[in-house]
Amino acid sequence: MLTYDRYVVASSLAEVFDILDAHPASRILAGATDILPWARYGRAGDVHLASVIDISKVPEFKYIRQSGNDLSFGAMTTIADFQNNSILREHAPVLAQCAVWFADDQIREQATVGGNVVNASPAGDSQPALLALNASVKLIRRENGSLLERSIPLEEFIHGPGKTAMLHKELVLGFECDSMRACGSAYEKVGHRRSLVISTVCLAVIAKAASNKSSLADIRIGIGAVGPVPKRLVDLEKALIGREITGELVHQIAEQASEFVNSRSRHEYRREVLVNFVERGIISAINQSGITVARFGEEQICA
Ligand SMILES: Cc1cc2nc3c(=O)[nH]c(=O)nc-3n(C[C@H](O)[C@H](O)[C@H](O)COP(=O)(O)OP(=O)(O)OC[C@H]3O[C@@H](n4cnc5c(N)ncnc54)[C@H](O)[C@@H]3O)c2cc1C
Repeated sequence: MLTYDRYVVASSLAEVFDILDAHPASRILAGATDILPWARYGRAGDVHLASVIDISKVPEFKYIRQSGNDLSFGAMTTIADFQNNSILREHAPVLAQCAVWFADDQIREQATVGGNVVNASPAGDSQPALLALNASVKLIRRENGSLLERSIPLEEFIHGPGKTAMLHKELVLGFECDSMRACGSAYEKVGHRRSLVISTVCLAVIAKAASNKSSLADIRIGIGAVGPVPKRLVDLEKALIGREITGELVHQIAEQASEFVNSRSRHEYRREVLVNFVERGIISAINQSGITVARFGEEQICA
């Protein structure tokens, strides 16, 4: 069970830093959907914290903005916002596709993207989608009274399970991404059971067709849960861009994805699923982007 001496619902970023200065060991709490299950028998057990800072009412963490090709949103953006916010739905539909697989309605209302990324679980579902959006993590800290901000690409922010580049008394303010409006996208996930499931493999793909509608101008493939950190499959992306897209090409490229499985458990299963997800995800995203292509084998049946 989680207990604490002090629980403060902060109302501004300045107040958060004031409390952090006064109580440097304070724990940040956003939606509490990771912290509460963590403090229980079988995981961290009974946890007593001296000070908890609830940031759910801090306006500086709550924003969703888009300008030109840039999309940004605050750390307190919830997984329900992924589904419901019109800007995110238009400029990053892969987030809504990810949210469908994320927990249930009740958790999605509470769970934040900031908490999901800071928790740095290898099975964190937002991560492949954020990678495909080229997300950078916007961090903020206060030193000698001055606010200092920095941005780190998500891939460099997550160092391993539960480990990030965040400094002591530093906070995730939000995320900066590319707008991927009018692109095709897909999200795939599998776990031990049908719902409320931890990912065994998850994948996000975003594809942009070239003007000839037979090749790709851009494709991003993010994978999660198959190793300690999420990854972009950059070499596979490069092998697809600019070439005439056929089901056979996608099939051949997808086969190479098996080498990116770096988990000790269920290794062969994950390899097989990842290859299939990569192929299916690419085909689905490409078809939404305006290029018509059938999955290899399905073409042959049609012929
Ligand atoms: C029933 C259930 C189902 C779930 N299903 C899924 C699922 O399908 N997919 C999935 O990926 N996860 C799932 N989760 C895990 C969890 O919901 C997510 O990881 C969620 O996004 C965490 O966000 P939160 O706001 O609740 O984080 P919190 O629990 O509030 O915080 C998590 C960590 O992040 C830190 N933190 C939070 N915000 C900030 C910030 N802005 N700056 C610095 N540090 C911060 C906290 O100190 C803490 O260490 C599930 C959890 C439950 C209970």
